[in-house]
Amino acid sequence: MPTPEAADLIDLTREIVGKEMRPRVDDAERAGTFPRDVFLTLGRAGLLSLPYPEEHGGGAQPYEVYLQVLEEIAAVWASVGAGTSVHVLSCFGLFHAGTPEQQQAWLPGLLGGELLGAYCLSEAQAGSDPAAMRTRAVRDGGDYVITGAKAWITHAGEADFYQVMARTSDQGGKGISCFLVPADAPGLSVGKPEDKMGLMGSVTATLTFDGVRIPAGRRLGREGEGLPIALAGLDSGRLGIAAVATGVAQGALDVAVRYAKERETFGKPIIAHQGLAFLLADMAAAVESARATYLHAARLKDAGRPFSQQASIAKLIATDNAMRVTTDAVQVLGGAGYTKDFPVERYMRETKVMQIFEGTNQIQRLVISRGLAG
Ligand SMILES: Cc1cc2nc3c(=O)[nH]c(=O)nc-3n(C[C@H](O)[C@H](O)[C@H](O)COP(=O)(O)OP(=O)(O)OC[C@H]3O[C@@H](n4cnc5c(N)ncnc54)[C@H](O)[C@@H]3O)c2cc1C
Repeated sequence: MPTPEAADLIDLTREIVGKEMRPRVDDAERAGTFPRDVFLTLGRAGLLSLPYPEEHGGGAQPYEVYLQVLEEIAAVWASVGAGTSVHVLSCFGLFHAGTPEQQQAWLPGLLGGELLGAYCLSEAQAGSDPAAMRTRAVRDGGDYVITGAKAWITHAGEADFYQVMARTSDQGGKGISCFLVPADAPGLSVGKPEDKMGLMGSVTATLTFDGVRIPAGRRLGREGEGLPIALAGLDSGRLGIAAVATGVAQGALDVAVRYAKERETFGKPIIAHQGLAFLLADMAAAVESARATYLHAARLKDAGRPFSQQASIAKLIATDNAMRVTTDAVQVLGGAGYTKDFPVERYMRETKVMQIFEGTNQIQRLVISRGLAG
């Protein structure tokens, strides 16, 4: 742990997770209810602001500490872990590209959990290729008027602020700008939530902008800087997803080991059968190597060194490992693993999307191989 406070922060997280999340997660995931109050609790405890500096109400902790806290949250409730990662990502543009006035106006509320953020890059025809986006922001005097639709938005309809990337010129990736749009802006509407495979406690929907007028003072950075701001945020956000995936994998491993010590076949606990014990050993190795990979990338970031390629490697390794570990956890539990009496089937469903969002794992390989090619 790199700071004296870090171990206390992990203890605090475990306490909150144990009291506020563990008792609720199963019912909320079955009912598909979004736990807005949990984000407020995390914010008030200072856990949403960890990687940001004190002058903005942040915790001034290294990124690696924030990621370990995130892993603890996701080990119990993946929807809240992923939501925390998206919320922290939605603060990135404001922190790095916002003016002091913009930061003073919105960062304290976002970092304290009173306001919830969302990050709006994808469109129906522009997921892996965000430069293909069509949503437009047209300058009109002192305002911009935004028209279009953003797809797959985590926290759509629940967020107070949307960080929206929209086209301000036809210059491909250089023609995109970044805006902070309040949820109550006239002309902004939220579609029916997506009926997903997992993460039922996290709402995902399309946002439609029908001539949404916002003052030019809500643009973050200069015109045309939107895609670099969005992609720089994603480098850090991908580490968040790597930590979340590692947390879910750890949760699945814990359930599997517990079960394997209790369940008996052929007169002994199944963990005493080498064929099964080796499966558990491979699962443990996959979890530990995922954790080491995201911590390595975070430490580069904390040291101010380039980490984009390592962030993609961490996202790729952690989410692919988690997919394998959660699938194998179902196997360890046999028929019981295939029922909703145990959480491992949910972990498996939840993990699948982590190989898809914040850049699919094919796109991570693209980033890594481009880095290799120089
Ligand atoms: C639950 C959920 C939450 C999400 N939350 C958000 C959010 O909060 N904000 C946001 O902006 N977006 C969000 N997304 C969108 C997500 O980031 C996109 O779904 C993702 O980037 C992939 O885009 P796509 O679905 O359009 O797939 P496509 O881009 O159509 O890709 C389809 C397939 O083709 C592959 N592919 C595409 N291009 C290449 C290539 N060049 N080389 C090799 N393979 C390629 C992909 O890997 C994939 O397997 C979310 C998605 C989901 C499912």
